[in-house]
Amino acid sequence: MYSLAFSILFVSFIILTLLVRFWLASRQLRHVLAHRSAVPAEFAEKIPLAAHQKAADYTIARTQYGLLTLLVNTAVLVGFTLLGGLQWLSLQIFQLTGPGMTYQLALLAAFAAISGAIDLPFDYYKQFSLEQRFGFNKMTKGLFFGDMIKGALLGAAIGLPLAWLVLTLMNQAGNLWWLYTWVVWSGFQLLMMVLYPTVIAPMFNKFTPLEDQSLKSRIEGLMQRVGFASKGLFVMDGSKRSAHGNAYFSGFGANKRIVFFDTLLARLQPQEIEAVLAHELGHFKLKHIIKRIGMMFAISLGFLALLGYLKTQPWFYDGLGVNPVLLPGQGNDAMALLLFMLVLPVFTFLFAPLTSLGSRKHEFEADAFAAQHTDARDLVSALVKMYEDNASTLTPDPLHSAFYDSHPPASVRIRQLTLAAS
Ligand SMILES: [Zn+2]
Repeated sequence: MYSLAFSILFVSFIILTLLVRFWLASRQLRHVLAHRSAVPAEFAEKIPLAAHQKAADYTIARTQYGLLTLLVNTAVLVGFTLLGGLQWLSLQIFQLTGPGMTYQLALLAAFAAISGAIDLPFDYYKQFSLEQRFGFNKMTKGLFFGDMIKGALLGAAIGLPLAWLVLTLMNQAGNLWWLYTWVVWSGFQLLMMVLYPTVIAPMFNKFTPLEDQSLKSRIEGLMQRVGFASKGLFVMDGSKRSAHGNAYFSGFGANKRIVFFDTLLARLQPQEIEAVLAHELGHFKLKHIIKRIGMMFAISLGFLALLGYLKTQPWFYDGLGVNPVLLPGQGNDAMALLLFMLVLPVFTFLFAPLTSLGSRKHEFEADAFAAQHTDARDLVSALVKMYEDNASTLTPDPLHSAFYDSHPPASVRIRQLTLAAS
C-alpha cells in the first residue's frame, strides 16, 4: 500500500521534473534565438556580431545536448528502479558472492561501472563533437581515455575504502549509525579539500608557480591590501584539455592556493587578472566558502538522518522496484545507499532555484568587494573577454537563468559594476 503510494509519488516527481526542465529549456532556446541577430546595445562596441552568434549557437547546442542526456538519464533511472534493473543486478551478484560485505561492495562497484559505461558515449560526443565544433576541445583521444581510466582507478581507490567504512557503520553502529557516518563523511570532505589541490588535481594537470614577476608583485600587493595569506600562486595547463578559461581558489587553512588557467592568463591584461583575483578573494574574505561548507554539512546531516529512517522502511525498497531483505547482516545497506543517491535528485530538483539564488547573492558581493579593492572597469573588461572566449550567452532567458545560474546574467553583473565604477 505504502509502496504503491511511494511509486506514484516518485513517478509524479519524475514527470514534474521533466516538464519543468523541458519548459525552461524551450524558453531558453526561444530567447537565445530571438536575440541572435544583434549584439545587445550595451555590448555592441565590445563584442563582434560573429562572437555573439557563436555564443548563441553554442548555448543552443548545449541546451539540446542537455535535453538528450536528461531523457537518457531518466530512462536509466526508471530502468534501474521501477523496471527492476537494480533488483536483477543485485541477484546476479548475490549468486556469485553470497551475503556480506563483498556482495555490497560489488553491487556498488557494478552500479558505478554500468553508469560509467552508459555515460561514456555521451561524454565522448560532447567532447569530440559538440566542444570540437566550437573550437573548445583541445583533448586528444588518448588523453580522453587516459583521464577516464585514471578517474575510474582513483574513484575505486577512494570510493571502496570509504564505502566499506560507511557500510560497516550502517551495519554495526546501531540506530545512530547515520550520525557517525555524518562525522566520517564530513571529515572525508575536509580531507578531500586538502588532498584535491595537492595530490589529485596534479595527477591530471601540471601546476607551475606563477613566474611573471611584475604580475606576481601586483597580485601580492593586492593580497596584502585585503589581508590574505596564501601558499602560492599557480598556473594550470588547462589548455591541454579545453580552450575555456578560468581562475579558482582551492584548499583552506594553510593550504590555500590560487590557480589560474594558462588560457586565462594568455588573454587578460595584468590589471584584469588582478580584478578577477580580487573577486575570488572576495569570496574568501566574505566567508562565502565557510558558509558553503557549513551549509553542505548541515544538509548532509539532514539527508543521512532521512536515510537512517528510510533504510528500515520496506516501502522505500518496494516502491522503487527492489525486494528488501531487512534481516540484519544480510546486507541491504548498499542497496539503501544506492536507491537513496539515485532518487534524491528527483525530489530535490525543485529547490535548485534557492541554491542558485544564494550563489548569485555571493557573486554580487564578491563583485562589490573587487570593485572596492581594484578598478571595477578592469573586472568589467575581464568579464567581457571571458564571456566572449567561453561563448557564454549574453541574452539568457531570465527565468531559465533565475532557476539554474550560479552567476548573475552578464548584463546585470556589468551594470552593477559600472555603477560602482562611476
Ligand atoms: Zn565568484
